[in-house]
Amino acid sequence: MILVIGGAGYIGSHAVKLLLDQGYQVVVFDNLSTGHQEAVDPRAVFVQGELGSRTDLDHLFSKYPIEGVMHFAAHIQVGESVTDPFKYYENNVASTLTLLSVMLQHGVKKLIFSSTAAVYGLPEEDVIQEELPANPINPYGRSKWMVEQILQDFSYAYGLEYVALRYFNAAGADQSGKIGEDHDPETHLIPVILQHLLGLREKITVFGTDYPTPDGTCIRDYIHVVDLVEAHIYAMRALLDNRVKNEAFNLGTGHGYSVKEVIDMCEKVTGKKATVEYGARREGDPPKLVASSEKMHRVLGWKPTHNLEDIVRTAWNWHRNHPNGYVDKRHHV
Ligand code: UDP
Repeated sequence: MILVIGGAGYIGSHAVKLLLDQGYQVVVFDNLSTGHQEAVDPRAVFVQGELGSRTDLDHLFSKYPIEGVMHFAAHIQVGESVTDPFKYYENNVASTLTLLSVMLQHGVKKLIFSSTAAVYGLPEEDVIQEELPANPINPYGRSKWMVEQILQDFSYAYGLEYVALRYFNAAGADQSGKIGEDHDPETHLIPVILQHLLGLREKITVFGTDYPTPDGTCIRDYIHVVDLVEAHIYAMRALLDNRVKNEAFNLGTGHGYSVKEVIDMCEKVTGKKATVEYGARREGDPPKLVASSEKMHRVLGWKPTHNLEDIVRTAWNWHRNHPNGYVDKRHHV
């Protein structure tokens, strides 16, 4: 059985569905602070609890025959991490330490950890490889890098076996249209554009037009959430079969798109015209982040199969059918 921590969240819920589709048994553990119970596939066992609670975790590991853990539960807003670092270090680092301690106590040693391209800070490389030294520039990135270092030390000292997956820009939704991205507040580019095109936002603001890129806007590597979670299953299978351990991998496509190109794609897919305001840079945004996923391909045989158009089409399918996310909040006003 696979334990998915944060399985009610955006990426976690997609992982749960794919694991179940591939025949794994799944138990989801989530405190529903930002996740949605409706996002959890009914075929999974759902347990509500706190990652920071040794009692909750102890109970979970005693009750279910857990062989491996995927850990998606984290706070993810860079700006908030700067103004409220305690929240980030408490949840992303301290609670993860509690998890590791309980896992080891119960003899569970296999962990897939959700890390981030933010561990690289402001890299100048055209394409980022895993060997590039980590140099995070905000508490969010530091919290993820701290855990990666803890994992290294725990693997050496206690025999923990982990894979850290450094996500670039996850986007898109499952083909079924039943699960998708629903953050509050939503800050990510693709959902923000699509919400605007649905009439839920007055306009979109491009953060900076004077970057050293061909059209002056930031370039990012957008990876379809289904490709991303598929990579987790490749990694988990390899961990369980003892083919890999204690490695970090980038998860991206190797292709970058500028903010303007993403807006163009959203207009093309939806057939609607966006109202765009060109604003100032957002603090801490590197001009360009594009992953080399060569290592993930070479070591685990994984390759993404969706492009930006697939990402926007599936995201549009989700947002159009769930304009207010999982709960239609208008019904409660
Ligand atoms: N962005 C933007 N307007 C928005 C949201 C994002 O111009 O309303 C830009 C942002 O500056 C970055 C890119 O879109 O260059 C992707 O941002 P997002 O927040 O989706 O992901 P990040 O790269 O910060 O993880």
